[in-house]
Amino acid sequence: MRRLLLAALLAGLIVAFFALDLGRFFNLETLKSQQAAIDAWYRAQPYATVLIYFLLYVAVTGLSLPGAAILTLAGGAIFGLLWGTLIVSFASSIGATVAFLASRFLFRPVIQRRFGDKLRAVNAGVEREGAFYLFALRLVPVFPFFAINLAMGLTPMPARTFYWVSQIGMLLGTLVYVNAGTQLARVESLRSLLSPALLVSFALLGIFPLIAKKIVDYFRARRVYARWPKPRRLDRNLVVIGGGSSGLVAAYIAAAVKAKVTLIEKHRMGGDCLNTGCVPSKALIRSAKLLADMRRSQRLGVRSASADFDFADIMDRVQRVIRTVEPHDSVERYTALGVECIRGEARITSPWAVEVATAQGHHTLTTRAIVIAAGARPLVPPIPGIDAVGYVTSDTLWALRELPERLLVLGGGPIGCELAQCFARFGAQVTQVEMLPRILMREDPEISEIIAQRFAAEGIVVRTGHKAQSFAIESGDKVLIAEHDGSDVRIGFDVLLCAVGRVANTAGYGLEELGIGTTAQRTVQTNDYLQTIYPNIFACGDVAGPYQFTHIGAHQAWYASVNALLGRFRKFRADYAVIPWATFTDPEVARVGLNETEAKAKGVAYEVTTYAIEELDRAIADEQAHGLVKVLTVPGRDRILGATIVAAHAGDLIIEFITAMKHGIGLNKVLGTIHVYPTMSEGNKYAAGAWRRAHAPRKVLRWLERYHAWMRG
Ligand SMILES: Cc1cc2nc3c(=O)[nH]c(=O)nc-3n(C[C@H](O)[C@H](O)[C@H](O)COP(=O)(O)OP(=O)(O)OC[C@H]3O[C@@H](n4cnc5c(N)ncnc54)[C@H](O)[C@@H]3O)c2cc1C
Repeated sequence: MRRLLLAALLAGLIVAFFALDLGRFFNLETLKSQQAAIDAWYRAQPYATVLIYFLLYVAVTGLSLPGAAILTLAGGAIFGLLWGTLIVSFASSIGATVAFLASRFLFRPVIQRRFGDKLRAVNAGVEREGAFYLFALRLVPVFPFFAINLAMGLTPMPARTFYWVSQIGMLLGTLVYVNAGTQLARVESLRSLLSPALLVSFALLGIFPLIAKKIVDYFRARRVYARWPKPRRLDRNLVVIGGGSSGLVAAYIAAAVKAKVTLIEKHRMGGDCLNTGCVPSKALIRSAKLLADMRRSQRLGVRSASADFDFADIMDRVQRVIRTVEPHDSVERYTALGVECIRGEARITSPWAVEVATAQGHHTLTTRAIVIAAGARPLVPPIPGIDAVGYVTSDTLWALRELPERLLVLGGGPIGCELAQCFARFGAQVTQVEMLPRILMREDPEISEIIAQRFAAEGIVVRTGHKAQSFAIESGDKVLIAEHDGSDVRIGFDVLLCAVGRVANTAGYGLEELGIGTTAQRTVQTNDYLQTIYPNIFACGDVAGPYQFTHIGAHQAWYASVNALLGRFRKFRADYAVIPWATFTDPEVARVGLNETEAKAKGVAYEVTTYAIEELDRAIADEQAHGLVKVLTVPGRDRILGATIVAAHAGDLIIEFITAMKHGIGLNKVLGTIHVYPTMSEGNKYAAGAWRRAHAPRKVLRWLERYHAWMRG
């Protein structure tokens, strides 16, 4: 309402200005003809003249009306060079800030809501370097003054920054115009004030801050390197620390572009994903799924099916799967690809040197660039008594050969959920404890609810809103004491699986000595190019965050490797515009882009279209008719902001939305694409169809109805 009133008031003033043709007072001829009268008035009433002039200037510029240039000339003509410059400098900066604030108040919420996702990069750029760009624009007086004020109001730049940068940036231009105003009789036109030579000088001045920034960056980089003497010869182009999914991709790319690259892994090639993460967990899920399918065999028309199994065999199979995949990540394969692989513990000893401790001893490698891909490890919170009761994590769980009778899963995130469901399906009594109000907190509430209901149906006791306080052994029984709604709850268990998150490996390999900092999330601090404070040291994958997935680590590894090796020609900003992931519960939960919760939190306008998997032929045939496809689109348009799928194989199905978002394909095109019948992928098409029906051209359809009625005679 306040916004509307202000908009109406401003619109009224602007309309009045043009309707009353007030612009006729703001031209050179009027100024020249009235100069003597204004001078006389100024001599008689100096303070009142300054005040009126100042307010008039602020009003004209604040309302973005034409006339600022004439008023500036008038400032010189009336007040002289010194006072004129001073008065105009403040009046123009205040007026500009008024226009900036008006634009921010009236238009920014709408613009950000509608184009927020597109403007994300612009906003980030303005937050980072906005002052430089504004300064450059202000220095060159050919950029329309009012347009800069209004456009900057739409960005996140603080008003204070806008004010002072504008005031300093406009000073030279103001001086030129005010000086011309002191010679008013000789000024023929506004254009004549800016000779080509003057314009070129201003343009050069405009570029200057950007060049200055580059120079500052250069010296800043030199300063961080100052205490590290650079060897005259470097024997490698790149050293990669960590042979997990991210490090492997970084090394592979370096070898592919014919760089001399060394990969150092202290433990097992393939890192977490192969040895303790994605691969074993998905192998375990497969066995658990078979058991779950057998339990509901009657629904598939099989009267009874029984499974005779030993948990130890299942865990052995998991190891067999790892061994089958292992060659893909092996030293042999990477050596054949051109990567020098070293088994040993790396330590960065200078920006140009990495020391490796191997079974044969220590030796130092010199290198032009380093990629840190040291991964993350399970976080074990310091809850009193946790060491006494003992625990397993996703690192150590794979050594279990006996199925726990009662498993307590601490943590309701993806890893906790995937493993809780597996163990329940093997026959363990599983209790999952989460301190937040729901499991899979990153997803929308109804998505968490679908999984929670499925878990309940499978006998998993999900206790949300329970904060672990301590562990104890009471009468030989292991117990968790959790706080829930202000009182203590005791939960007995045999084995504790701690799955409350993962923390990046940032200690013990040189980062502290080099002064490479960490973020609030305790990951290695990098810029958009994945560079640390040392421009030749990069980080990617779990150690860099913010997403801890194999495919994101691999994605970042490309940027880290290419920027490290070819960044002097062109550097690439890591692109996080379309980030997908999946949680491999049954049903799976897959997502790309925004969900509803995030869209609301970010103030992004959206429409939701949902399709229930219960209606899908293939899902019905497979007895897997549960879940949904939920798509967020820009209001009134088919552009996809994000999609979540809960369904069997959701992790595969989401690719259609990933591709669509990545390549700017809207729901209309998804609908216009032939999907094989009967497949789960038709769910995507039907979601697009639901969107289309909701946006059917009603008027056209009414006319068509009349046309068909007429054709029937
Ligand atoms: C149970 C579980 C299930 C998961 N499921 C999925 C999934 O389904 N999909 C998915 O995308 N992601 C999944 N993840 C996450 C995925 O495993 C990680 O995001 C991925 O492995 C990160 O790869 P990385 O290369 O960054 O780190 P890592 O794989 O941790 O590799 C880092 C490597 O660096 C080595 N290293 C560390 N310090 C040094 C040093 N100083 N010198 C030499 N070597 C060093 C380590 O030994 C390690 O091998 C899962 C994780 C877990 C725990």
